[in-house]
Amino acid sequence: MSVPKQYLSIPGLDVFPWLVHGFGLAGFNLKDIHKEPWLASFQPVVMKQLHSAQVFWLDRFPETRLDGDGLVTASPGLLLIIKTADCLPVFLADPENRAVAAVHCGWRSTWQKILVSACGLMQEKFGSRPEALLAGLGPCIERKCYEVGHEVLEAFSAAGFDTGKIFAPSLIKDKFHLDLREANRLLLVDEVGLKPENIYQVSACTFCSPDLYSYRRDRQTERRLINFIGIKETD
Ligand SMILES: [Zn+2]
Repeated sequence: MSVPKQYLSIPGLDVFPWLVHGFGLAGFNLKDIHKEPWLASFQPVVMKQLHSAQVFWLDRFPETRLDGDGLVTASPGLLLIIKTADCLPVFLADPENRAVAAVHCGWRSTWQKILVSACGLMQEKFGSRPEALLAGLGPCIERKCYEVGHEVLEAFSAAGFDTGKIFAPSLIKDKFHLDLREANRLLLVDEVGLKPENIYQVSACTFCSPDLYSYRRDRQTERRLINFIGIKETD
């Protein structure tokens, strides 16, 4: 009997021996992290996520609760956690400076451009160069399944997004379909300066896949996918 796979990973990030990452599948919980031999020595860092643009830089395990939606670190041994159920988890990796970020990109954090804040913090703290950064965009609710109201389109429009590239009309009046992954991909390319070929995407829809949790489908407030990235301790 084989053990079912517990998380998805990105081959473009798997090539770095100093880095660990995964987009957890349904059934993979926080308590399972320490059952994985290759993750057992990591300290998981979990935020109180708010749908904000707040990003924290960590150089050690935090002593107080962090209320925000993004974490950046160059410190080995910390496992940055993003919990999702339809929102987009994004990982950033800087192979030149061995730094990483984990970012929770729901629609509110996306129009507030949290990825621009996260990349800015990596530049400030580690000297990360946008053209050297790699990004991994994980599973989320995809455009055809993600209907939003006109207030969402207006928020993105006011923030300067090209709404024609990320929204499609719905059959329902005053409703639109939002492509959350594309909105964040465009931010990384157009506003931060990542190379398009350095942005990896997992094409999986939380709403469509029974292996993933979807708040819109399940209406379960407790169930969250556990997404993680960290830097290994060297011995
Ligand atoms: Zn779907």
